[in-house]
Amino acid sequence: MNQRTDCHDTTDLGLTWRNTFAALGNDFYTRLSPQPLPDPYWVAHSETLAGELGLMPSWLESSEHLQALSGNRAVTGAEPLASVYSGHQFGVWAGQLGDGRAILLGQTAEGMELQLKGAGLTPYSRMADGRAVLRSTVREFLCSEAMHGLQVPTTRALCVTGSDAPVYRETAETAAVLTRLAPSFVRFGHFEHFSARARIDQLKTLGDYVIDHHYPQCRSADAPGGNAYAGLLQVVSERTAKMLAQWQAVGFCHGVMNTDNMSILGLTIDYGPFQFLDTYQPGHICNHSDTQGRYAFNRQPNVAYWNLYCLAQALLPLIEEQPLVLAALEPFKTVFLQEFESRMRAKLGLLDSAAPEDRPLVEDILSLLARSGIDYTIFWRRLSHSVGSGDVTPVRDLFLDAAGFDAWWVRYKQRIGGLPCQQQSDVMLRTNPKFVLRNHLAELAIQAAKQKDFSVIASLLEVLEAPFDEHAKFEHYADFPPEWAHSIEISCSS
Ligand code: AMP
Ligand code: MG
Repeated sequence: MNQRTDCHDTTDLGLTWRNTFAALGNDFYTRLSPQPLPDPYWVAHSETLAGELGLMPSWLESSEHLQALSGNRAVTGAEPLASVYSGHQFGVWAGQLGDGRAILLGQTAEGMELQLKGAGLTPYSRMADGRAVLRSTVREFLCSEAMHGLQVPTTRALCVTGSDAPVYRETAETAAVLTRLAPSFVRFGHFEHFSARARIDQLKTLGDYVIDHHYPQCRSADAPGGNAYAGLLQVVSERTAKMLAQWQAVGFCHGVMNTDNMSILGLTIDYGPFQFLDTYQPGHICNHSDTQGRYAFNRQPNVAYWNLYCLAQALLPLIEEQPLVLAALEPFKTVFLQEFESRMRAKLGLLDSAAPEDRPLVEDILSLLARSGIDYTIFWRRLSHSVGSGDVTPVRDLFLDAAGFDAWWVRYKQRIGGLPCQQQSDVMLRTNPKFVLRNHLAELAIQAAKQKDFSVIASLLEVLEAPFDEHAKFEHYADFPPEWAHSIEISCSS
C-alpha cells in the first residue's frame, strides 16, 4: 500500500494528490484499499463538477477511471483510508462509528477531498457490508448536485458507478459507488470520538488541523476570549445556522441529523432518507425509521443546536472555560433567525429593509399553507409569477381557505407596494426554485436506472443544476407529485 505523506505531488485520475488528512497519523484512521466490484459501469456523472475540477469531458469515458472509482485499481498518489468517529444517533450516545463504507482517497491540490462511498468493508463497518445500493446512491448523487444548484452548502457528487453484484437490504439490490467531494469530511462525531475517550492530544491535533486548513480566522483575537477552539465552535455554530436557515426556507428535510452526519464545515452531508416537502406540513417526518419524529422538518433547527451542544461538550477540554463555550454557541440562535427571516423576505420579494409587518406576513402565509396542505415549491413559484403579472388567480386557486388567503393577499400587496412589480418578481424567480428533487422524481430515476436506463438521472441533473431556470423539455418535473408519491417510504436502509 502506498505510504507516502510527503509533499511531492503525484497525478492520477487527472488530479494532483496532497492528502493532508492522511498526514494526521494512525490515531485518526485505518489505511486500506477500496474493495473491487465486478464488471463496473458508469451510471451518472456531473460534467459541471468535472469541469470545476479541471477534468476533460473524456475523463468520464475512461475505463481506467471507471475501474479506479469502483475500487478495482489503486490510484497513484492517493492514500486511501477510513476515518474513525463516534456520535449521538437519535439522541443517544452510539460510541464508535467511523467510515463504515466510505473510503477517503485523498485530497487534490485544489483542496478537495475525494471519497468513494460504498467501496467495501472497513474496520468500522460493524455488522454491515460496506456497500451502498444503486437506489440510495442515485438519490445522494442527484440531491448533492440539486442542493448545490440551490446554493445550499453541500458535499458534491462527481459520479456514480454501478455493478450487478448483489447487495442485500430488505430485498436483493445491486451495488453502486458514489464519488463524492468536499473540502473536508470531518464531522462533529470526529471530535466527540477523541473527547469521549479523553484523548486530548488527538482532540487538539484535530482541532488545529481543522482551524489551520479551514478556519484560520479562529486564531485571531476576535475569537471568544481569544481562544481559537471557542472561535472554531463559534464559526461552526454560524455556518450550521446558515445552512439550517436555507434548509427551512427551501423545504428540505434531512431525515437523520445524528451528530455523525453533521459536517464541521456546515455542509449538508450524508443524504439518506431526505425529502423536499411536497405539501407544507411543518411536522413532516421524512424518515420512515424515525418513529418518534425526532428529525421532523420543524424540529431541525433545534436538533442542530442540540448537536452543536454535543460538539461544544467535545471541545470543552480545549476551550476549558464554560462561559466561552456558551458565548461561542450563542450566535446560532441569532444567525438562524436573521438568516431565516431574510430568506423568507426574499421569497416574498421584500427587497427593502425589514418592516415590523414582515414577520407576521411570513408566519401567516406559512400557517395558511399548512392549513390548506399546499404544495410548498409550487406555491412560491406561482407567487413569484403573480407578483410580476398582477394576476393572483393561479395562487389563489391553490387554497381551500380562499377567504383566509384573500385577507393575507391584501396585506401582502400593500406591503410590497402595489402590483405588478417586475423587479420583485425577477428576484423571487431567482429565489424560489421551480425544480426540487421530490421523492417521486428520484424514484423515477431509480426505477429507470434499475433497468439500465440512466437517461432520467441525466435529465434530472440538467434541471436540478439550474433549478431557477425554465426547462421547457422537462416541464413535467415541476408538476404536483402524483398520487403514488404518497406511498413512497424512505427509511435508513441504504
Ligand atoms: P448513516 O446512518 O448512513 O450515516 O450511517 C451510520 C453509520 O453506519 C456510519 O458509521 C456508516 O459508515 C455506517 N454504515 C451505514 N451503512 C453501512 C454499510 N452498508 N456498511 C458499513 N457501514 C455502514
Ligand atoms: Mg452517516
